Amino acid sequence: MLGKMMDFQLTIPAVMRHARKIHGEAEIVSKLADGSLHRYRYVDAFDRVAKLAGALKKLGVEQGDVIGTLAWNSYRHFELYYGVPGIGAICHTINPRLSDEQFDFVLNDARDQWIFVDPDFLPLMARLQDKFKTVKGYIVLCDEADMPEHNLQNVYCYESLLAEQSVQFDWPELEENLACGICYTSGTTGNPKGVVYSHRSTVLISLTANTSSSVGMQPEDSLLAVVPMFHVNAWNIPYAGAMAGAKMVFPGRFMGDGQALAELMNEERVRFASGVPTVWLALLQHLRENNTKLETVERLMVGGAATPVAMMKAFEEEQGIFMQQGWGMTETSPLGTMNMPTPSMEKLDKEAQFELRKTVGRPTFGIEVRIVDDALNELPWDGKTPGSFQVRGPWVCSQYLGIEQSDAHTEDDWFDTGDIAVIDKQGYVSITDRSKDVIKSGGEWISSADLENAVMAHDSVLEAAAIGVYHPKWSERPLLIVVTKPGVEVSEEELKTFLATQVTRWWIPETILFTTELPHTATGKVSKKDLREQYRDFSYQ
Ligand code: ADP
Repeated sequence: MLGKMMDFQLTIPAVMRHARKIHGEAEIVSKLADGSLHRYRYVDAFDRVAKLAGALKKLGVEQGDVIGTLAWNSYRHFELYYGVPGIGAICHTINPRLSDEQFDFVLNDARDQWIFVDPDFLPLMARLQDKFKTVKGYIVLCDEADMPEHNLQNVYCYESLLAEQSVQFDWPELEENLACGICYTSGTTGNPKGVVYSHRSTVLISLTANTSSSVGMQPEDSLLAVVPMFHVNAWNIPYAGAMAGAKMVFPGRFMGDGQALAELMNEERVRFASGVPTVWLALLQHLRENNTKLETVERLMVGGAATPVAMMKAFEEEQGIFMQQGWGMTETSPLGTMNMPTPSMEKLDKEAQFELRKTVGRPTFGIEVRIVDDALNELPWDGKTPGSFQVRGPWVCSQYLGIEQSDAHTEDDWFDTGDIAVIDKQGYVSITDRSKDVIKSGGEWISSADLENAVMAHDSVLEAAAIGVYHPKWSERPLLIVVTKPGVEVSEEELKTFLATQVTRWWIPETILFTTELPHTATGKVSKKDLREQYRDFSYQ
């Protein structure tokens, strides 16, 4: 017998209906380009979403059409997150830091029809417009008075389009398996690949994000989404926050600006914020230099790259803030694992707690994980055997856009993340490397993540990255590249002596180099690819 329950479709319009009716008075606050704040309520936002839907229809947008967005985190981007999928179209969030070739590739690959663009990015679009084969025109996210000069074809003003429309819109019934969004991987190897989210996968992951063992947002919480809305749906905060009825705070173009973030957090009484490690490093530096306290923040969620334990400790000791690490990727929507305190963890002494907290945590319900060798044999969860980290679940990508079969999808329907991980008995996952970044010295693996973490525990170090370079005897040895804190000096010898207290001797690199800045990817992570290129001529010959 089948269950006798209603066939209620899990769609983004369902999230909107709920948020509007139940949490309509909750606020959405956005920092605008001129530094001022825009604020309105969910109910106002969704009135405008209805107008946006009308405007999209007027532009001729049909179900299944792909609509690009090239924008910072702000209320207009939030409206697009609902308006575009609400009519059955697909919201392709584009990363403004892509290279020209990648722009050209992703817009044509996704077949974008219209691009909603922040004024900041208009010159970029103007420069590249001739390359876009499917784009019919551009809608600038501002009002008529702020429309910049441009030489683009077919340009509309967002506010003028909305002004012509009514707040009544006859929303279509949508099937939950329809596509709602596209996000491209950053393309560290070859061209970026399109990951196509469905309404169902987005609703399911947002529900999971709202459980207490994950992010656990609540009504009247104040959330700051620093993680960009152009990257993996800002970790679904615009949907999960709306489901929960939380106040949402968007930093606009100021997401890398420690001072602006600190001010926004204090002014808007932010309790929870999400971002990649580099963002939190910048914030920590600002707080230290200016002796500033974050008055209301309780938790900072961090993921997307390895989180230095030293930073976790600093936030806890200096600010009383719990830094909560998760792991995920574009292909996993992104939530895969989460590290939340448990009663048994709290019984441990501080050092032992940090040993657990430096892992990326345990899989959330819905994501199954395994580690395997090259022949797909499962490896033990013993806390020491590294293997290829593979996942499956309802919000894991089953196929890339336009690619029938990729190497990442195994014959037995798991997704190979490209990460190397160790898993302990309790299911805590440690990412030791990305497979392409692994350092293999004399046939043994050295974890670049552990090496970086170890050196970053030194007081003088701001950021560090380890890459493998050629060595005539060991075939590869680590090279550590370090950025020190402003005005602080430290010798190579001192760092080596310090490392000897942190890692096994044979991991210590023969050479540690100093630089003023590390290259970062479009999403703010250290770019090992660029680093390898920069140090191409270095070898241990
Ligand atoms: P890309 O880095 O290619 O832009 P994603 O943003 O999807 O793609 O990043 C996914 C990758 O980021 C993961 O495969 C993993 O290597 C890394 N990552 C994510 N979270 C963590 C974490 N908490 N610790 C270490 N690495 C992480």
